[in-house]
Amino acid sequence: MRPTVAIIGRPNVGKSTLFNRLVGKRLALVDDQPGVTRDRREGDADLLGVPFRVFDTAGYEDEDPATLPGRMRAQTESAVREADVALFMIDARAGITPLDEEVARWLRSSGTPIVLLANKAEGRAAEPGIHEAMALGLGDPVPFSAEHGEGIADLFEALLPYI
Ligand code: GDP
Ligand code: MG
Repeated sequence: MRPTVAIIGRPNVGKSTLFNRLVGKRLALVDDQPGVTRDRREGDADLLGVPFRVFDTAGYEDEDPATLPGRMRAQTESAVREADVALFMIDARAGITPLDEEVARWLRSSGTPIVLLANKAEGRAAEPGIHEAMALGLGDPVPFSAEHGEGIADLFEALLPYI
């Protein structure tokens, strides 16, 4: 069985952009278990010749903060639990939010290996965000740009022990 990688993070950080980049033309829409994983997409990916399965989670994408903890946890947690490694993506331009900190707290106790990905890292505007991300307690962030494809080699190196 292929190793599995879950992409998680709050809305708009660039998860689906990375998913599409990794999966390319092999994009698959997956029908699902009822409830929590309804919106999850998954597909076969390949990074520098190493094949793996990737999940793009949507469970964080809830407009109402009041309902966020339950929904986000249910959907993201199930993806993280199933995965061999979780890619926790933050937006280095926007910086770390309280939600990022909350997610980081339970990720640290999840038992799943986490790779912290600081997306939108092209250019200098990302530098403060990359620095803030170091305080999440998940190791050094990998600076990355899903849109521009920068940092793929570093992402590969960070994932390699788990895939
Ligand atoms: P998701 O909600 O986490 O799945 O985020 P999306 O993949 O839908 O991307 C949200 C927005 O961020 C879109 O407008 C993307 O074009 C933009 N975006 C994604 N990756 C990058 C990046 O590396 N740099 C910049 N500047 N924008 C990005
Ligand atoms: Mg998305």
